[in-house]
Amino acid sequence: MDQPPRGAAWIRGGRGECEPDTAPARVYRLVLLGAPGAGKGTQASLLAERLGACHLSTGKLFRAAPELGPCDHTPALAAALEHMRRGELVPDPTVLGLVRERRGCLGCRGGFLLDGFPRTMAQAEALDRILTAEHVRLDAVLDYRLPLDQVVARLGGRRFCASCQAVFHLQARPPRAEGVCDRCGGRLERREDDRPEAVRVRMAAYEHDTALLSQHYRRRGLLRLVSAEGSPEEVYARSLLALA
Ligand code: AMP
Repeated sequence: MDQPPRGAAWIRGGRGECEPDTAPARVYRLVLLGAPGAGKGTQASLLAERLGACHLSTGKLFRAAPELGPCDHTPALAAALEHMRRGELVPDPTVLGLVRERRGCLGCRGGFLLDGFPRTMAQAEALDRILTAEHVRLDAVLDYRLPLDQVVARLGGRRFCASCQAVFHLQARPPRAEGVCDRCGGRLERREDDRPEAVRVRMAAYEHDTALLSQHYRRRGLLRLVSAEGSPEEVYARSLLALA
């Protein structure tokens, strides 16, 4: 039987056998932090492609929910999607329930890049407990920093593919044909939570909750600050330097 694509277990909830047969030469277990629009997702895709670690995004999980079968549409998931549409954080118990169901992904021999999780201190503390139970340790936490005016400009131009979730940007990473995904030909859409009113709510949530996470990981000697200014390749090169 064909092996499911990498990351299938994360999206489907631990039922996909998607671990690579052999571990990459160096296994990375990383958390990526940064304001919405700082480019965490883009960096996570590049790092996953080139370092072999699996890209685990809680936002991607929620955005993929409409594609899941009817059995996966729990009331908690429906409520989570409502929060997301308004730009609010999904409540910790819902996020943690979903991550706990997928904890096997954190023990994957290929390593992982957590993107968008943890976002609150309660999530960070829960992650510490899950990692201990899985007998794995984080190697580093990359914290991408970008001035607010650039955050707003980046979010305004961002588009994603409704079919395969690939991310584009009207200026920085335009698709070859307007409104069409380069990878699968799917339709490109603006994320509902990239609307200006939702962006304001998301930035407030980020500043209130997520900034505390930097302190948590700095105290543990894991934090690496990375400037998110410039092209994705420039930021990628800085990410590698931060991991060296
Ligand atoms: P992202 O793709 O990481 O920007 O996430 C998109 C949206 O999904 C966020 O604005 C939240 O509504 C929700 N979300 C994703 N991850 C989390 C999380 N760890 N905690 C709470 N809400 C989350």
